[in-house]
Formats: sequence, C-alpha cells, structure tokens
Amino acid sequence: MNKFVNSNDDVADQGPRSYKSACRMCHGGCGVLIHVDDRNITKIEGDPSNPMNKGKLCPLGAASLEQIYNPRRLKYPMRRVGARGEGRWKRVSWDEAYDEMVNKIRQATEKDGAESIWVGTGTGRHHFPFVSRFANAIGTPNWCEPGTAQCFRPRVHGSIITMGQLPICTYTNEIYPELIMFWGHNPIYSGPDGELGFGVKEALARKPATIVVDPRETWLAKRADIWLQLRPGTDDALALAMLNVIIGEELEDKEFVEKWCHGFEDLAERVKVY
Ligand code: SF4
Repeated sequence: MNKFVNSNDDVADQGPRSYKSACRMCHGGCGVLIHVDDRNITKIEGDPSNPMNKGKLCPLGAASLEQIYNPRRLKYPMRRVGARGEGRWKRVSWDEAYDEMVNKIRQATEKDGAESIWVGTGTGRHHFPFVSRFANAIGTPNWCEPGTAQCFRPRVHGSIITMGQLPICTYTNEIYPELIMFWGHNPIYSGPDGELGFGVKEALARKPATIVVDPRETWLAKRADIWLQLRPGTDDALALAMLNVIIGEELEDKEFVEKWCHGFEDLAERVKVY
C-alpha cells in the first residue's frame, strides 16, 4: 500500500490499473479489486469472480480505503492533554512515547511487581505471538486475547485432526443446503474465515429448513423453523442430549463409528443422563 501513498515511488506513470486482493476488515476475506491510478488507490470494489462474495462488499469493506486516506487516521503517537473524553490530543515523537511507556512499566513493576501489569490485545492473528512475548519479557503472565485459545486454535486444530484441513462453510455454489443449523454464531453479522453473510442470505433465499441455537432472538432466530433458546452455558447439555437421542434411536453412522471412534460405548453410557 505504501507504494500508492508515497509520491516519489517508481510505480508512478504506469497508468490506471487494478489488482486482485482480499478484504481483511473482518475475517471474511472477501475478494476485492483495488483500482489505482499513477499514485493513489482510487477505488475498492468486490471482485465478481470471487466465489465467496461474488462481487459484493459490506459497508465496512467498501469503506476500507478510509484506513489509508482519511485525514483523521492515526499515524503517530498522540498524548491526551485534556480531560478524558474531551478529545484534546498533542502529537509526540515515538521516542517520547516509548520513554513514557517504559517509565510507566518500570514504576508499576517497582511499586506492585510485574504481575500488576495486564496486557490485552484485540483480534488479529499476526500480532498475537509478539504481544504474549512482550508480556513474558516484562515479567507478567497476565496476557489476554479475545479467542485464540478458546475459538481459533480449537477450530483449526480440531478441523485438521478430523478432516485434514480447515474447511470453510460456503453455503452456496453448486450445492445449496436443505437444512442449516446456526449454533452459537450469527454469520449475518459476524462470520469466521470465509463464512460470509452474503452467502448465508443467498442460501436462505432458497428456503432451506433452519434451526437456530441462540439465547438471543436474532434476525436468524426470528426466521428459523426451530429456535432453541437455551440458557447461556448450556450448549453442552443440548449437544449431549442430541447425542443421546441419536445413539438411543440408532441413528448414528455405524460404519464411521466402527472405523474412527474410540470409547463410543462410554459415550453412549455418559449421555443417557441428558
Ligand atoms: S464481510 Fe465486509 S469486512 Fe468482511 S471481508 Fe467481506 S467486505 Fe470485508
């Protein structure tokens, strides 16, 4: 991207052109076309040839150019000079910012110990290792992130162990689902890698049966054939109860169980209480 915001760069004089890329304003990864002229990105639009978003972009993706050209974009350290919430800031150098952070970390460590410092990070897989390493380097085990341990890693590792790769749910293309079960997620508003609201809506337009497992009456729940409004934290009980019915009525894939499962009899016994 720097090539297009640096006026001295040698990409100038190549004329208007476009590049295929992927939107990362969320984890969806919609295909995009980035149009550029001599020096600037002029437009971002959905890539019609991308099988996932088929040329569509959500408002967030369509506005992603603002991250580069918006005049209010944060480009350097700013120190708050007014009261919190007053919106008064002063630009400081990177050296000043680093010195201030180092001093505060030292003060906290000397006063209450390194464990008094808590390091938190938002989502974004590229920086997780550095944030945890930073916490480790300053001596605190108190590091928190929004879901690598609970969501991303189990999903990736579980998928690779059981299916050999990380599959994504496409919803559309050649085979459309006859039944969709939305359990504990709401891909209309927020989807993991490759699971886009566009595809969900396209699939729903074909009127598959739908089951929604969600404590909240979401847009999807309102339209579901069956809305299972469980109490938060009781998903496991529901899953085990479903297993009890499947096993009790001998609906399981016996050949698969025979070939791939360990401890199936123990599981059958365990789920009887649900
Ligand atoms: S859903 Fe929106 S934000 Fe997410 S990848 Fe697609 S266009 Fe970007």
